[in-house]
Amino acid sequence: MKKLFVVSAPSGTGKTTLNDRLMLEHSGIEKAVSHTTRKPRAGEVDSQSYHFVTNDIFQSMIDNGEMLEWANVFGNFYGTSHKEIERLFGKDHDVLLEIDVQGCQSIIRRRPSTVTVFILPPSVETLWNRLEQRGTDPLNIRWRRFLEAKHEIEAGYIYEHFIVNDDFERAYSELKSIILDGKHSSISHKEGLDICRKLMAEYQTSPLLQNLKAKFGDDLGLLNV
Ligand code: ADP
Ligand code: 5GP
Repeated sequence: MKKLFVVSAPSGTGKTTLNDRLMLEHSGIEKAVSHTTRKPRAGEVDSQSYHFVTNDIFQSMIDNGEMLEWANVFGNFYGTSHKEIERLFGKDHDVLLEIDVQGCQSIIRRRPSTVTVFILPPSVETLWNRLEQRGTDPLNIRWRRFLEAKHEIEAGYIYEHFIVNDDFERAYSELKSIILDGKHSSISHKEGLDICRKLMAEYQTSPLLQNLKAKFGDDLGLLNV
């Protein structure tokens, strides 16, 4: 019986880097290619990073019942098609879904045996720095992702396993032990929730966030850089 995994993380935490390394080094598991209405970033290849589609095509896929799950994230649609999951299970591979918390919620309802992993940044400051250092998004998009990360962290309780992506190699070996060896994360569920609470508190108190708010305001719609 092939397994389904969900790996989520607030944008900028490092989930794509961790998952891509796992896909590169282990052939029995594949990452599902989602559909999205987001525009490709530099270096992203259609049908590899995502299937990049128009709003009309995405809507028709929803209407035709082609999506296992879908969500609106940062103003764009993202979804996993039934066809993609069948394609990968057909290759006799385990499947990893790199999707947001709303998508994870739908998957837990539909396939309760799914193994779910939430990756967390060591601090909100580190999260902001990684979004900046990645250099793929303009300031208004980075700001939006950074503010929405708080809501994702609030929903962290739905996940079974938690990993803090501080040291990359350590986080990677933890991810491997959960996905390849079926172990529990070294952090318990309760400890994971405590880390989520600590990060949410940082959103209230971090001087970085206060400075950014003073500069840009927290109305995402007004920030048009
Ligand atoms: P996500 O997919 O969660 O949005 P990415 O995988 O794109 O995040 O990573 C965001 C940035 O952080 C990238 O520039 C990546 O190289 C960097 N990064 C990832 N993990 C670490 C880590 N443990 N330490 C330092 N930088 C990291
Ligand atoms: P990005 O624009 O950075 O590639 O992705 C933004 C967010 O959308 C991330 O949290 C990512 O995990 C999520 N995402 C990507 N594909 C899917 C999908 O198929 N379904 C859902 N629900 N979320 C997705």
